[in-house]
Amino acid sequence: MTILDLLAQGTVLLCDGATGTELQNRGLAQGEPPERLLLDDPDLVLSLHRDYIIAGADIIETNTFGANRGRLAHYGLQDRVTELCVKAAELARQAAEESPRRVWVAGSIGPTGEILEPLGPLSPQAAYDDFAEAALALEQGGADVLFIETMMAQDEAAIAVRAARENTRLPVAATMSFEKGKAGLRTPWGVDPATAVQILSEAGAHILGANCGRGFDDMVEIIAEMRPLTERPLLAQANAGLPQWIDGRNVYPDTPESIVPDAIRLLEIGVNILGGCCGTGPPHIRKMRKLVDQFNEEKQS
Ligand SMILES: [Zn+2]
Repeated sequence: MTILDLLAQGTVLLCDGATGTELQNRGLAQGEPPERLLLDDPDLVLSLHRDYIIAGADIIETNTFGANRGRLAHYGLQDRVTELCVKAAELARQAAEESPRRVWVAGSIGPTGEILEPLGPLSPQAAYDDFAEAALALEQGGADVLFIETMMAQDEAAIAVRAARENTRLPVAATMSFEKGKAGLRTPWGVDPATAVQILSEAGAHILGANCGRGFDDMVEIIAEMRPLTERPLLAQANAGLPQWIDGRNVYPDTPESIVPDAIRLLEIGVNILGGCCGTGPPHIRKMRKLVDQFNEEKQS
């Protein structure tokens, strides 16, 4: 059974929380790429996966959000994309296989960090090749599904989804990041949730949604807007509120208790995969595990 079969049966799944901010909490230095830990301290990455599984996550994400040539070039790791993605998927797979329950491994794919032509230097073909390399390596390392996330530009998001669909056999989820401004909810590149549903669907994403952004309250509005527009499963991974810079690090305000009302709203309006983004950790996931279990039980009875 694939993850899509399970979602089609109406089961709501719980994803894990943040990788980047949580690895920083556990010692990763500010400004260091989280992917470097795959080489220097794989046990730290493995222990984060295990903690999320113990907290109740059905899906854990690989530590590969920035594993593309453009981002890794800043650290001299640009030629190690395949190696890092395979390694990351294998580590997550290892943690998943230790679990007595079924745990799914999602290969994380973030934006290139560069701007596409004609406004920027990145050619569509180079972006496609970059995403294809990561997607293929994540599949090779044992990922069950790909999570293309924190997308902001519509052309880049569509290229990423196509590259993942055309180069792997895996189900593909794609989420964009929205913030509320004068024009309403938009990505920094001006994409609204309805347009996101359209472009991600047309590109072939099996699962759509939103991640990151400002917090669980905005996420309720985003998912409420997307739900009537698509039959496909929706994925929501919100940040733990807007961070404050305190003592040289970002501190996120939302506690496991404070997100409960919005997490319940997300379930009620029809989200299919719930999880967390920046600032959420295993305690947030443990809290949401109870809510998701309750919701799934009530729906069955
Ligand atoms: Zn985030």
